Amino acid sequence: MRIVADLHIHSKYSRATSREMDLPTLARWAKLKGVNLLGTGDFTHPTWLAELRAQLVPAAPGLFTLRGGPAEVRFMLTVEVSNVFTQGGRLRRVHTLIFAPSFEVAARINLALGRFGKLSADGRPTFGLSARELAEAVLEVSEECFLVPAHAWTPWYSIFGANSGFDSLEECYGDLAPRIHAIETGLSSDPAMNRRWSALDRIALLSNSDAHSPQRIAREANVFDTELTYPAVLEAIRAKDPARFLFTIEFFPEEGKYHFDGHRACGVLFAPAETRRARGRCPECGKPLTVGVMHRVETLANRPEGFRPPGAVPARHLVPLAEIIAEALGLGAESAAVEAEHLRLLEQGGSELAILLDLPPEELARFTPPRVLEGIRRVREGRLTITPGYDGVYGVIRLFGEARAQAPASEQMALF
Ligand SMILES: [Zn+2]
Ligand SMILES: [Zn+2]
Repeated sequence: MRIVADLHIHSKYSRATSREMDLPTLARWAKLKGVNLLGTGDFTHPTWLAELRAQLVPAAPGLFTLRGGPAEVRFMLTVEVSNVFTQGGRLRRVHTLIFAPSFEVAARINLALGRFGKLSADGRPTFGLSARELAEAVLEVSEECFLVPAHAWTPWYSIFGANSGFDSLEECYGDLAPRIHAIETGLSSDPAMNRRWSALDRIALLSNSDAHSPQRIAREANVFDTELTYPAVLEAIRAKDPARFLFTIEFFPEEGKYHFDGHRACGVLFAPAETRRARGRCPECGKPLTVGVMHRVETLANRPEGFRPPGAVPARHLVPLAEIIAEALGLGAESAAVEAEHLRLLEQGGSELAILLDLPPEELARFTPPRVLEGIRRVREGRLTITPGYDGVYGVIRLFGEARAQAPASEQMALF
């Protein structure tokens, strides 16, 4: 069956998240978005774990549904943790996703990790142990656990980030590197960028939303065709076989808030070459520029732009429907009018991903305002312009501006 999986979200117990991030709201929005496998996030948090135990019931090997909730939305026990440690004489900060096959295993992971940090402090706990030590501790609990370096390229808190990351999986994980089977590409990079670095050829590339509010679920996601069980989904990831791992759903990476380099306080936005010319310094204030994802990819890449290894899992780039509605109708993206129209379209179309990916224009035309439909067409065709994001500022998408870019270099598949 077709599975749309978003395996990185946060509960209301993580910092800077919406108070709505509880199980009924998550299940409702997963359904509205067209997601049938959602990470729970935050299983290391004692209160959240207690809510998960009380409200989730087993639905398939390693997966759960919400009691009394939509049967088609399943949950996987997941968490993101933050490791802050010194290695090779440098301070390192790496975020990692952990997937667990059962409550029993999750509880044992919490027991093992609780010695290294305060689990109740944050839904995304911080530990002083290294990324390698984390992997060792988790895999010692169960071989069925799965570790994924999160948003692998962002400048802060990621395995390959410019400020506190590493230059290879091996440098980070040592002898355990072969046990890492996937990385999360993050909003600011896409598979095409990652495939420029041959060191990642053996690795699957996952895309998740990292949602802090329910409306952001599935802004990135993974689409599989396999059994909806924990082992089958993980096996599809490990095999990265396009017959089972059909494609990822991506932001246009330029929209991500660390795509290019720059200095937010001074409004300086630089492409990697400009940063090199400026010797990494902000021309306004002289402080170091925040080096973004494209720059790091270019530093580590050993293949030209546009290289696509045979058998690579394809990607489809989307713009969130609420953003399309807002621009098409000339309204604020956070306005009540956009929210109302968004919900109306989701109910009419079945789900956001059905609207953005699947439904033919003739069908969309029955319930979609013409200018919104034109916006959806333009996203599908990659006809849009983007001012890249930098130093924590999201990029700006323009669907209806006069300047019009050609299709992105990364692949746009035929409609699913
Ligand atoms: Zn993170
Ligand atoms: Zn500056």
